[in-house]
Amino acid sequence: MMIQKVFIDTSEIATFGYKPKGEVTEITTNNGMKIFMDIDSTFFCGDVIFSKEQVEDMITPRTRSAAIKSQSRYWPNKSINYILSSGFSSSDIATITNALSDITSHTNIAFHKVNNANKNYILFVCDEDANFSPLGMQKGGNEIHIQPGKQKGIYLHEIMHSLGYFHEFTRTDRDNYVEVFPGLAVDGMQYNFEKYAINYDGYDIGTFDFNSVMMYDSYAFANAIFQQWLNMVQDILWEHS
Ligand SMILES: [Zn+2]
Repeated sequence: MMIQKVFIDTSEIATFGYKPKGEVTEITTNNGMKIFMDIDSTFFCGDVIFSKEQVEDMITPRTRSAAIKSQSRYWPNKSINYILSSGFSSSDIATITNALSDITSHTNIAFHKVNNANKNYILFVCDEDANFSPLGMQKGGNEIHIQPGKQKGIYLHEIMHSLGYFHEFTRTDRDNYVEVFPGLAVDGMQYNFEKYAINYDGYDIGTFDFNSVMMYDSYAFANAIFQQWLNMVQDILWEHS
């Protein structure tokens, strides 16, 4: 655990939430987030209290991803109600259920199927045109749009956005792992390759995960010239195989 600074005077830190009992120690996690430790070893930041395990996990992460920092975008009580709109086939519904149980089996998040809700819920919408999700919990409820017949990975990807996760290749440290060529992307689509920090306050967790469900493939948004070149290379490889 990296302890950088010991405060004598607690008025040095914002104490709008948790009120420290005495001398406070500042801890910086490996992603630059600051947490404070009270004399009785209570970990806090503003009005959020962390367990020792949570703090240890932030310092030596067991997972790899990039997530939004704003606490207001986090789901309360690790419990999420979800609603299925009409239009999904029985196999789509099986895929959704599968994706949700994949998440519950690897995390402490629970999903509950309900018929209606007025806040803090995910509404799955069957959409012929597009797949998308908001980032983190939205006050009015989250709508996740998925095209019919999609595989589980698409659901996992969009649900992860609703849980507050960014695309892995938009991590602030991605240049250490991948090279991005926005000039080879379809015009107007370059923004997809900007680092999340341009628009959001977030943090990188663990090291870069090439196998993340939040990665795009290497040719995502490839423009016509790049696509032509890719086809040419594939033809050559095909002839020589
Ligand atoms: Zn995405």
